[in-house]
Amino acid sequence: MAKKDLKWDSIGFNYHQTDKRYVSNYKDGAWDEGRLVDDPNVTINESAGILQYCQQVFEGMKAYTWENGEVVCFRPDLNAERIYNSAQRIEMPPVPKEKFLDAIDQVVKGNLDWVPPYGSGASLYIRPYEFATGVVIGVKPADTYQFRVFTTPVGPYYKGGVTPIVLQVSDYDRAAPHGTGAVKAGLNYAMSLHASVLCHQAGYNENLYLDPGTRTFVEETGGSNVIFVKDKTVIVPKSDSILPSITRRSIVYIAEHYLKLKVEERPVKFEEVKGFDEAGCCGTAAVISPVGKIVDHDEEINFPSGMDHAGPVITELYNTITGIQNGRIEAPEGWIRHIA
Ligand SMILES: *Cc1c(COP(=O)(O)O)cnc(C)c1O
Repeated sequence: MAKKDLKWDSIGFNYHQTDKRYVSNYKDGAWDEGRLVDDPNVTINESAGILQYCQQVFEGMKAYTWENGEVVCFRPDLNAERIYNSAQRIEMPPVPKEKFLDAIDQVVKGNLDWVPPYGSGASLYIRPYEFATGVVIGVKPADTYQFRVFTTPVGPYYKGGVTPIVLQVSDYDRAAPHGTGAVKAGLNYAMSLHASVLCHQAGYNENLYLDPGTRTFVEETGGSNVIFVKDKTVIVPKSDSILPSITRRSIVYIAEHYLKLKVEERPVKFEEVKGFDEAGCCGTAAVISPVGKIVDHDEEINFPSGMDHAGPVITELYNTITGIQNGRIEAPEGWIRHIA
């Protein structure tokens, strides 16, 4: 085995083609065995369900190298469960959870040279996804599907230390009431791209979406959940249209069991936010991005933690979760899958 000679700290969050990807096909009511292949291209019929009616669901997770050289994954059982639920919501045959975990093992083992070394701050991003290959023209679920998993090495999200970001309250919604906000489907991202481009053009980092029904409660950003801190209590917005982030659920556990903080998971009125001490965005890519400021049209909420560094509670949460992922802090039972 020879590690690839990449500049791990400057590869960023981009697609790099790695050696192997996992492919399994669903036909006549059953998944085939599945295997690793070399070809990164997908060939499908012009009228495949994914191309016409957007039947697709996906996951995002990471593999890390520990100091002892072991390669591990963080809570992949929760990704297996989430893509199972997502597939059912989009009328796709779910991938059995054991099959999902086996695919992750295979694809990481097949790309071991691409897993960044311990201490580089980089990791191997894993992208499992399922899409409709079957031909449709009338609107209905397709009858054949493909499940694939590819990997790409990604650099440390924060090169020069963790820096706070600015959120803009969006005039668009990312999810409909009783819609698909709680499932990880590409369609939720397609409709958020326009809002995201406008947000970046206006000079902000991410959109903050409010609840689509009343526009009074906080939901999440386009690709991460938000958490707040007030008086050493972690406050987590709750709603049926928020995507259940594995990072956020892990942070809630860490706050309660490692840091002995109080946690409130409840609907959070946007009105309340100006009284909070700290804010952060949680997701696999950045783990936690501290939020320094939220801009709502001509009003600004400036958190006391400011734009120079993360606040004290967000910092402790960040250090603990990344410590667990990198093997420096003991993980709760069942959180780490040892792959190689
Ligand atoms: C994937 C995703 C997240 C983050 O989930 P993690 O499991 O923590 O990576 C948050 N919000 C949305 C909309 C997402 O698609």
